[in-house]
Amino acid sequence: MTIGAGIVIYGAQLDDIAPRGDAMEPRFPDNTPDTARAFEEVVRVAHFPVGERKIEIWSPAREGLSKSENLKRGYEIAGDLIFETWSCYLSGEAHCGNCDSCRERHRAFIEAGIADRTIYNVHPIVSDKCRLGKCGVR
Ligand SMILES: [Zn+2]
Repeated sequence: MTIGAGIVIYGAQLDDIAPRGDAMEPRFPDNTPDTARAFEEVVRVAHFPVGERKIEIWSPAREGLSKSENLKRGYEIAGDLIFETWSCYLSGEAHCGNCDSCRERHRAFIEAGIADRTIYNVHPIVSDKCRLGKCGVR
């Protein structure tokens, strides 16, 4: 608010809001477009009760983009800078390769058809091809 931003972007994507298991609720309810709209309304009421100012809360999920589709779009725009992004739940010199986020990152690269040049401590296993060292990325 203090820097005059008109938009907040966060990384929720379509796979995050797919129904989980046999439940009909989203995997991460806080990542749904409904939640983003609700946050926009909270910000408007709490910070800009009068006037026209508002802040858009944008995410790939709001555009209907999956993680791999978002990755493709990011690669088209930013090129190799995408390899400087961080997905791992842990901190360190390299991605762990074991956590859900590392595996989802690697899976998205495979689905996007982009060679994953992320540095992992251990190679994320997301398919039999990974197990056999044939996912095209090592
Ligand atoms: Zn990790």
